[in-house]
Amino acid sequence: MSAPSVIVVGAGAVGAACADALAGAGCPVTVLESAFPGAGATGASMGHLVVMDGSEAQFALTSWSLRLWAERAASFPADMEDEGCGTLWVAADEEEMAHVRRKAAFYAARGEKAEVLDRAALREAEPRLREGLAGALRVPGDRVVYPPAAARFFLDGARRHGAEVWAGQRVEAIGPGRVLCAGRWLEADVVVNAAGADASRLVPGLPVVPRKGHLVITDRYPGFLRHQVVELGYLKSANALTGESVAFNVQPRKTGQLLVGSSRELVGFDPRINSPLCGRMLRRAASYLPGLPRLRALRTWVGFRPATPDSLPLVGMWEPGLWVAAGHEGLGVTTAPGTARLLTDLLLGRTPPMDPAPFDPRRAMPAHD
Ligand SMILES: Cc1cc2nc3c(=O)[nH]c(=O)nc-3n(C[C@H](O)[C@H](O)[C@H](O)COP(=O)(O)OP(=O)(O)OC[C@H]3O[C@@H](n4cnc5c(N)ncnc54)[C@H](O)[C@@H]3O)c2cc1C
Repeated sequence: MSAPSVIVVGAGAVGAACADALAGAGCPVTVLESAFPGAGATGASMGHLVVMDGSEAQFALTSWSLRLWAERAASFPADMEDEGCGTLWVAADEEEMAHVRRKAAFYAARGEKAEVLDRAALREAEPRLREGLAGALRVPGDRVVYPPAAARFFLDGARRHGAEVWAGQRVEAIGPGRVLCAGRWLEADVVVNAAGADASRLVPGLPVVPRKGHLVITDRYPGFLRHQVVELGYLKSANALTGESVAFNVQPRKTGQLLVGSSRELVGFDPRINSPLCGRMLRRAASYLPGLPRLRALRTWVGFRPATPDSLPLVGMWEPGLWVAAGHEGLGVTTAPGTARLLTDLLLGRTPPMDPAPFDPRRAMPAHD
């Protein structure tokens, strides 16, 4: 039997990775992107590739994806700006330190390297963090990439396998096995909706909503930080799908710049900078990094994470001929390669190496507030 033909809608990290994996598996693939590769959440994101333990399923998908990223690291082009800086999950006090130890045990039990740093070791690892912090968990396998280049990297792979990639092609409607684009219905055996936060505009009923986030980028300060540094409470902010929240999350870029995050709010696709919230985000970051306010900020932007009510993405069949790879919230760059492999295995009737059930787009889920 020949491999099914596929139209992938959206060329963010997720759509691009799916196109690469599907084309690599022999599927004739066409990618339709309304703007340009990485134009959505991908281009607005930090590019932190991070193992996350919000749930067993999240851990499984993120840690598998990190392995898939590592397998391809040798072929990254220079513009990926790949940095194996690892993550420091910072504990403010002894209560958080207890959480750090539990987190370390969880990672260790699942074969993921992680190291507990006490107060002194943290000071040595990141001297610019404020004094008096209790310690941290270092996850050395986490890395950082430049997200738009990651989308291009996957698309280049897809093209090498024969895929066609069309930018500037807005899909107006999607149905099983067909999409309406520039007034014409285009057909394939399968359509994959990888339109990020726009996925539910194209397929009403998909439980995906935009979750806005701000980032600030500074001028170049090489050596200011060595790791991506994140407060332990970050996961709580990421997983609670209510109201506004901020968390300390700062990343050193290969360029010497710092990316400062993070904020979350549910305000639809409102593209305006929310100055009070951005201010809160920066004050939170400065409370951990007292030297931060002295640095020059160059630019602030917002992006829209595609969020689902249970903090897990939708990967699989929605109805025959119409599949989904969307809803990755703050982990879509990280989990792009795992998502792509999962989707490809399911679509080709192969048994994936991890349980796909938690990601089934038709799973029971709480409603969005
Ligand atoms: C501030 C911020 C920081 C983040 N930091 C990280 C991080 O450090 N690590 C991490 O893993 N993730 C991070 N994320 C999350 C990550 O950006 C997303 O999960 C990921 O980019 C989702 O990828 P995607 O391909 O599903 O969506 P997108 O990147 O949004 O791609 C969807 C694409 O579909 C296109 N499209 C939409 N509608 C149509 C249509 N009708 N026709 C054709 N094309 C269409 C869009 O133009 C877009 O290019 C962050 C997000 C934000 C906002």
